[in-house]
Amino acid sequence: MEGQVILVTGAAGFIGSHFCEMALEKHFKVIGIDNFTYAGSRENLERLEAQKNFFFFKVDIGQSEEVYKLLQEFSVDYLINFAAETHVDNSIQNPLPFLQSNVSGSVSLLMAADRFKSKKHIRYVQISTDEVYGELGARDFFSETNSYLPNSPYSASKASADHFVNAWHRTYGLDTVITNCSNNFGPFQGVEKLIPKTIYNSLKGLPIPVYGAGKNIRDWIYVTKHCQGIFLAMTLGRKGESYCFGGENEFTNLDIVRSICGFVDKLSGSTNRHDLIQFVADRPGHDFRYAIDHSKAKKELSFDPEKNRFLLNLEQTVKWYCENLSWMENSFLRTQKK
Ligand code: NAD
Repeated sequence: MEGQVILVTGAAGFIGSHFCEMALEKHFKVIGIDNFTYAGSRENLERLEAQKNFFFFKVDIGQSEEVYKLLQEFSVDYLINFAAETHVDNSIQNPLPFLQSNVSGSVSLLMAADRFKSKKHIRYVQISTDEVYGELGARDFFSETNSYLPNSPYSASKASADHFVNAWHRTYGLDTVITNCSNNFGPFQGVEKLIPKTIYNSLKGLPIPVYGAGKNIRDWIYVTKHCQGIFLAMTLGRKGESYCFGGENEFTNLDIVRSICGFVDKLSGSTNRHDLIQFVADRPGHDFRYAIDHSKAKKELSFDPEKNRFLLNLEQTVKWYCENLSWMENSFLRTQKK
C-alpha cells in the first residue's frame, strides 16, 4: 500500500475528509478534489493540508479533462468518489443539482478513469448509500441482492450513479466496486444533518424539529468504521461487486434526538433540552426504516462492525461539536447561504 496513490473526490466533506485522514495514516499519497459546495469546507482540510502526502485541487467532478490530468500526473491507483449533493431535504426542494453532481458528475469521473485505464490499472470505488434500496418494514434487512427501489430524488440520483458504475464495468471492463452504507455520524458532519443539527439547536436553545412522530428508524455507523469498510472494499473487494456496510445500531430518530439532549445536558450541566423537541410535518415520501445485512462484507472482507460502542461514540461526537462551536457556526452559516 505504501506509495500507492488515491484520488479522493469530496475530500472537503464529512466522510471524504475522514477517509483522507485514514489514507494518510496508512501511508498512501492522497490527491483530494472538491468544488466547495456549501457542504465542503477549507476547515475540513486543515488537518490534512499539514501533511506532506496530501495534495488538494479545487475541481468539480464534472471536469472530466481536469480529473484525467490529475490521474496522469499522479499516476493514481484508486479513484474513490465521495463527491455528491447529500441532503434529502435539499433534493426534494431542488433536485437538479443532485442530477448534475451525483449522476452526471459520476459519469464524468467514470469516463476519466476509463480513459486512464489504458495507461495504468485503476480501481474506481463509488460511495453509495443504503437508501437506494428504498424502505423496509419492521423486520427485513437490505443486502446486495435487493432490487433498487429509491424513493427520494437524492436516493434516485445515487441509484442512477450506481447503475452507471455497473455499466462501465460490464461494457468497458473498468475495475469498479460500489459500497452501500447506512447513516454515518461523527465530527465534521454539516449541521443540516440530524445529529449535528440536534446538537446545534440544543446548544442554541432553538426548537429541535423531529419529523412526524419521530418513529422512522435508521441504522447508524461511526464514520471511521465506514472508512475502514471502504478500505477493505477498495483493497479486497471483487471487481464489479457491491458491498453493504451497516453499524448494527438501529434507532428511531426520536431515540437519537433524546440521547443527544441527554448528553448536551450532561456536558453543560444545565437545563432539560428535551423541552426543545418539536414534532413537525413529516418529510414527503419519508422512508420508514433502513437496515443492513452486511454478511457479505463480513465474509469476503472480514468487516467487523463496532459492537456496543454506539452510545460511547455518540457521546464523543456530541463532545466534539460542543468543543468546536466555531466550526459548527461556520457550517450553519454556509448552509444559510446555499
Ligand atoms: P458531504 O455533503 O459532507 O460532502 C460532500 C462533498 O462533496 C462536499 O465537500 C462537497 O463540496 C463535495 N461536492 C459536491 N458536489 C461536488 C462536485 N460536483 N464536484 C466536486 N465536489 C463536490 O457528504 P458526506 O456525508 O461526506 O457523504 C459523502 C458520500 O457518502 C456521498 O456520496 C454520500 O452519498 C455517501 N454516503 C453518505 C452517508 C452519510 O450518512 N453521510 C451514508 C452513506 C453514503
